[in-house]
Amino acid sequence: MTNNYDKLESLTSELLQLIGEDINRDGLIKTPMRVAKAWDYFSQGYRTKIDDVINNAIFTENCKDMIVVRDIEFFSLCEHHMIPFFGRAHVGYLPDGKIIGLSKIPRIVDMFSRRLQVQERLTDEIANTIQKTLNPIGVAVVMEGRHLCMQMRGVEKQNSLASTSAMLGQFRKSAETRAEFLSIISK
Ligand code: ZN
Repeated sequence: MTNNYDKLESLTSELLQLIGEDINRDGLIKTPMRVAKAWDYFSQGYRTKIDDVINNAIFTENCKDMIVVRDIEFFSLCEHHMIPFFGRAHVGYLPDGKIIGLSKIPRIVDMFSRRLQVQERLTDEIANTIQKTLNPIGVAVVMEGRHLCMQMRGVEKQNSLASTSAMLGQFRKSAETRAEFLSIISK
């Protein structure tokens, strides 16, 4: 938990007043407290250590085939507007003697999502973390996100989806490997 709970609450009160609200009306009495709590959660990724996320769930396994976890829901906040972007992440890798517990992959996605982000960097950070942790033959991450900062402000079409990808190792070198991954995640 952040040490700055009280400060987050008072900042929220100030923000409410600045946008023209009456902070004493019923519905808003507890809002600063709720917002502080929510932001504590949204920013957990700054205070989470990758070793605690992985928690030794790395196993020696002589598996050579592609491992894919698809449709991982993510929620993050755009660093330009502090407004949510969210969608799905698909993560694949080609192991080289080491595998990671499958449930750890969504937790890695969460860890990097719970910070202010741009989707491009979020995608890279997930891929690089898996690369560093497992030293596999390759890693692929594709993310598809809806950005409320675009949709709410009417800049883009309402149904536009931003797609970003990071391809490392074999996924970058081989069109065939990349195509296999893309076909798995598009099913
Ligand atoms: Zn934005």
